[in-house]
This record gives sequence, structure tokens and C-alpha cells, in this order.
Amino acid sequence: MPEPTTTPAAAPETFTFQAEVTQLLDLVINSLYSHKEVFLRELVSNASDALDKLRFRALTEPDLTKDGAPLEIRISADKAAGTVMLEDTGVGMTRDELVKNLGTIAHSGTRGFLETMKQAGKADASLIGQFGVGFYSAYLAADTVEVVSRAAGSDQAFRWTSDAKGSFKVEPAEKAECGTQVILHIKEEQKQFLEEWQLRDLITRYSDFVSYPIKLQQTKKVGTGADAKNELVFEAVNRASALWQRPKNDITEEQHAEFYKHLTHDGDGPLTKIHFTVEGNQVFTALLYIPTHAPMVEMDADRRGVRLFVKRVFIMDDCRELLPPWMRFVRGVVDSDDLPLNVSRETLQDSAVVRTIKKQVVKKVLDALDEMAKERPEEFATFWKAFGVTLKEGLATEWEHRDRLSKLLRYTSTKGEGLVSLEQYVARMPEGQGAIYYVFGESEKALSASPHIEALTKRGYEVLFMTDPIDEWATDSLREFDKKPLVSAMRADLKLSESDDQKKDREANEGKFTGLTKRIGEILGDQIADVRVTDRLTDSPVCLVVQEGEHHAFLEQVLKTHGRAVPASKRTLEVNPSHPLVESLRKLYERDPESTRLTEWVELLHDQALLTEGSKIADPNRFAKRMTELLSQAASAAIV
Ligand code: ADP
Repeated sequence: MPEPTTTPAAAPETFTFQAEVTQLLDLVINSLYSHKEVFLRELVSNASDALDKLRFRALTEPDLTKDGAPLEIRISADKAAGTVMLEDTGVGMTRDELVKNLGTIAHSGTRGFLETMKQAGKADASLIGQFGVGFYSAYLAADTVEVVSRAAGSDQAFRWTSDAKGSFKVEPAEKAECGTQVILHIKEEQKQFLEEWQLRDLITRYSDFVSYPIKLQQTKKVGTGADAKNELVFEAVNRASALWQRPKNDITEEQHAEFYKHLTHDGDGPLTKIHFTVEGNQVFTALLYIPTHAPMVEMDADRRGVRLFVKRVFIMDDCRELLPPWMRFVRGVVDSDDLPLNVSRETLQDSAVVRTIKKQVVKKVLDALDEMAKERPEEFATFWKAFGVTLKEGLATEWEHRDRLSKLLRYTSTKGEGLVSLEQYVARMPEGQGAIYYVFGESEKALSASPHIEALTKRGYEVLFMTDPIDEWATDSLREFDKKPLVSAMRADLKLSESDDQKKDREANEGKFTGLTKRIGEILGDQIADVRVTDRLTDSPVCLVVQEGEHHAFLEQVLKTHGRAVPASKRTLEVNPSHPLVESLRKLYERDPESTRLTEWVELLHDQALLTEGSKIADPNRFAKRMTELLSQAASAAIV
């Protein structure tokens, strides 16, 4: 493949598509049958982005728009030639940009799209734009596509042509004004897209809110009587006004859904919308959306973020200064009347105006989530599934919104009644329960069988299941809710209330088991911090508990998987004095403190405790061998 160069070549040059682009095109052409009409929306969206970019650049380079060409999109069909043309007067592309953007540089979303499409039942064209590969949707309707483009500020134009069979061609071309023409050679079986009424219908349905005029070439009768004749004229078919500036009640749900798709390319529609105007010292309007599901390609989808406009002029995509990172799931538009038009990413960082806007935006999003949680719990559960983890980062990293965020937290629990809030948890705490208990591990299934919760559930206490790594940080920073401390059932300092009798029993057991616990300590050596008897367990013989200031096993595993250095932490081994196995070990110890079988079994029990807390065992082979030996003995005993 020839290297792209900056000097224009006179003759056509042929380039090979990047391998993943070829696969993507193959899929678009051969496997996507439904929603073929999305190509128009995607191409209009690209045209609108190109106009935004030109208008933005013209703020600092006024020469770019000095020829006075109107900022608009024109669409026309030529039935005789079998083509549809979309033309914009936007920023255009240089020769190098044509080569890179439309074929040789794979967008990060290309692979994501291919993978999603491979999953059965997901071959849906409407998903294509989400992955930042919307241009290729042109091949849903066309077998050959030409793109003629002249970059703003340049007097040279280039033509990109491809029939999507592995390569594309780029050559010099003639074009009077800056901008881009996309010419679609419509497939034989998609001829309906050449019909004027079809195009008009698609534009009004999908692109009504685009803030530039979309002019469709239409046949109009001009003159009267014998002079009357049909003429082709371009007429705007959309309203071309910023949707967020329209009065709230004038915007239909369909318009919201389409505007959201225009912004995010997410085919599913938003979960909820937040539309407000703030007047006073700072005047701004925001139209924000919360998506229904987490983005499939985090990186690409994040690029969409919240768009910043100043007095209706597009300034930038994904304006991170307007939202804290833990609200990065929010999409939409903020349009400020007070920021200067020449604002840059650097000046945004220390702008008092931006800080005020951000404060209001965070407040409104939290208000909307509160309302959703109270009024529409099912919708909130959908939100929580998609973005709960992101929201929890707010608790772990910032103090400011702690109270509000803590009310939004949801967990599953030993009650098995779906998601529970901390408020609900506290409201149904039985008398005598002084703390909010939780266990922390990989899955609800593993946690529900955890030895650590035995004594709690026996007392009728509910235990929350925490399964996101972020939960450890979030609970550490929250510490308490409604004056009740949050306590991990896996921590060494779990103090359960005990009656006088229970206290007496425990003290007696401590004395009775001193010898055995000391011996276990010797056997396990520096693999553990301490050994002691416990009243935490009922059905299990032993468990490992976490010392103050150390991470839970699950978090350690996650950190290790991510290549983070985790200091080796030691657990305390707790033994259950009422378990028959522990009692037998005690007797064995008293008969022969140096018994090799005692050593073997203690090590086996320690491995077992490691597994139940979610850790890896040091020597799985030795563990398996010991298990086999024990089972063999048990099996031969069983058949005697
Ligand atoms: P996306 O728009 O999500 O980045 P596309 O595949 O639709 O992905 O387009 C790829 C790139 O090609 C765009 O990012 C843009 O730089 C360029 N492009 C596409 N259409 C146009 C256009 N009409 N004018 C200028 N540039 C365009």
C-alpha cells in the first residue's frame, strides 16, 4: 500500500482498506438486512459534524467562511443515474484525511462492532453509528460510493471512490466550494431511496433537529396556466433549530429519541432526559440524557460525552470539565450564554463559569436519579445495572455528594428480594442489630454460601452482597449510614453482641482450645497473622478474616489481575469450637501434638478457607492430592 503523502498525486492512487475495515464492509453488505435506511441519518450526522467543525474553526480563522457559502446540507436524487448525493458546506477533508478517515486507519470501534455483530441475533444496522464507523453504512444502500471533498482553506479537491471490494481509489477532482459530497450509487434492490418522498420522510423522521438546514431537491410546479412547468428546487425540510432551545413541552418523545441517537449513535434510545435552563448570573441550557445501557466500546462512546455550545455555536465534543468523572455516562448538550466563543480546553479548566455550570449539572442529574429511584424503581434498577459502578466512584473519590450518593446505593442481600437500598436495610433491621453488615466477593452466588455470614444470618441479620471492586473503597469512605456503621462480616474486628452465657462459653472455649490454636499457628507459620476461636461460625469449621487496614481477598485478586503490586497481607484464621471436626482435631492434638495427620489436615483446612474467601491456594496440586487421600480413606471406610 503506498504511504499517504502530503503532495497531491495527479493520477488515481489505489489503497487497500485496513483489514478490519474490509471485514466490516463485508458484514455491512452481506449480513445487515434490517434498518438499511440508517445510512441517511449517519451521513447527515457526519455532515452536521463537519459544519460544526467549520463554524468553530471560523471563530479564529474568519477567512475560512469569507466566500459566504451558507452552512447547509443538500440532498438530491438522480433517478436516471441511480444516485443519491449528500452535500455539505462543512470543513471538508484533505487528501490525507480522505485516505486515513475512510479506510486506512481502523477506528477503535471497528473491532467492537465486528464482535458485537458476530453474536447471534445482533446483526442490526442501527447499531453501526455507536462504534464510530457510521460512514460505512453508506454501503447498506449503495454498491459504489464516491466522496468528493475540498478541505476548508484549500483550493484542491479530491475524489475517493470504492466499490468496497478490498480497496479504494483517490484522485484529484474539481469542486467549486469547500465541503464534502457523498455520492451513493444505489443498489438495484434499494431503488426506493431514489424517491423524493422517501428521502423527505427519512429526513423529517430522523434529522429534524439538525441545527443546519437540510435542503432536499424537489420537483415544484412554477408559473401558472400554460407557462406552468416542473422545476427542481432545493427546499429545507427540517426545522433547523437547536432542539434544546425549544420549549420543553413542544418536544415530543420521538424528537428526544432521535436527537439522542444523533448525539450518541446509540440505537436504543435514552433511559431518561433532563432538560433545564438556568437564568440569573449564569445563563445556560442543558439537555442531558442517561443511556439505557453501558456503552459497548467504552473509549469510543466516552468520546461522545457532553457537547459544549456557546450561544448556539458548537465548541467541543465530550467536554469533561462539565461533569465529574463518576457522571461520565451522561450524554447531551450544554449551551452557555456567558462563556466566550474562543474558549479552549485549557481556559475551561479554571473558568468560574464552568464551575458554576458543573455544580448545577451535577445537582440536576442527582435530582433526576433521586426522582427515578423514588418514582420509578424498575427504571432505576436498569440504570443501576448499567452505571451503578460508575456512580460509586463518586463515593470513593469525593466527599461532597456523599449523603446524596449513599441514598442511591443498591445491593442484593441475603434476603434475596432483589435490590435493597441502605434506607430499606436500616428500616428492616431487627432489634439489637447495631450495624449494617456486608460481605465482599466475586459473585452473589459465592457470597451467599460464605462461612462469614453464618452467625449473622442465624441471628436474623440481613447481609449485603458487594461484588464490585469499587465497593471496598466506597464503603471505607462512607463508613456509616443513618448513624449505623458499615461493617464487613469478613473483618477480624466483627463484634457481635453476646449474652452472659455466650460470653462464658466463649471464654471457656478459649481456654480449652489454647493448645490446638497454638499448634495451628506453628503449623501455618507466617502464612497467617493469628489463630483464634470464634463465635462467627456455625456450620463451617474455619474461616479467614481480614485485619484492620488490609484489603479483602477479592480486591487483592482484582488488583493483581490488573498488574498492580499488592503487599502480601496476612489473615487471621478463626476456628469454630462447636464444630465436630475442630473438636476431633483438639483431641488428636491432645493425644499427639506432633501428629503428621494433624499437620496435613490443618493445611488442608487453611487451603479450604483460602478458597472460600476467594483467594488462590499456594499449591493446588498438593491440595488435590490430600483431598484424594482423604476421600480414598473415607471411601474405603464407607464400604467396609
Ligand atoms: P465518526 O463520524 O463516528 O468519527 P465515520 O465513519 O462516520 O465515524 O467517519 C469517519 C471520519 O471521516 C469522521 O470522524 C470525519 O473525520 C470524517 N468524515 C466523514 N464524513 C465527513 C464529512 N461529510 N465531512 C468531513 N469529514 C467527514
